[in-house]
Amino acid sequence: MTNILLIEDDEAISAPLVRVLSREGYAVHCVARGKEGLDVLDQTFDLLILDLGLPDMEGLDVARQARSRGLTFPILILTARSEEVDMVVGLDAGADDYITKPFRLAELLARVRALLRRMTHNNISDGMLRFQDIALNLAGRRAFRAGEELGLTGKEFELLRVLMRQAGTTVSREELMHEVWGSASGDSTKKLDMHISWLRRKLGDEVGQTRYISTVRGVGFRFEKE
Ligand code: CA
Repeated sequence: MTNILLIEDDEAISAPLVRVLSREGYAVHCVARGKEGLDVLDQTFDLLILDLGLPDMEGLDVARQARSRGLTFPILILTARSEEVDMVVGLDAGADDYITKPFRLAELLARVRALLRRMTHNNISDGMLRFQDIALNLAGRRAFRAGEELGLTGKEFELLRVLMRQAGTTVSREELMHEVWGSASGDSTKKLDMHISWLRRKLGDEVGQTRYISTVRGVGFRFEKE
């Protein structure tokens, strides 16, 4: 059974959401306040759907607290405030995706499925995501190679996290830009190439002898599982 926690105070949004998610076979627990959510939050949930504008606290603080407790399930943010989108996908909050209100239920379901699918591909244990000899401490935002810490910048960590979360599959340039910088695909992707090259250097990937991050020409990048 897939368990979803929904934290949303607007019943006009939560009621149809609970209905459609239940119909899809998910077990949904819905609360209207951030504190109630924090009371029940634990690793038995597979996904958190989180409203940003809660009556008692900021949704982002719920996300931060979940991550600081070492909880690794994906977090999907519901926001009516598109200007906060950059912050949401930014470094601090720990969210994995967001959807701006008003949204179509079909669109939300597609995001939910995508997040859950990624999760099943993950090699996560003890809050650590591992492939090859690379380990990411998701709550502490630290990266290690063969047990030695890599001094990654915030953006480098984010890039590696997104790539490793989907290890073995190619992640498009657009998705990386969206997830790491919150930018639309029209934005310059030069900074993506720069950050990828810095990240590769720190991982020890050598030109022509890729061990970790492969370039898929015209598409994007792939973190190799082995
Ligand atoms: Ca709200």
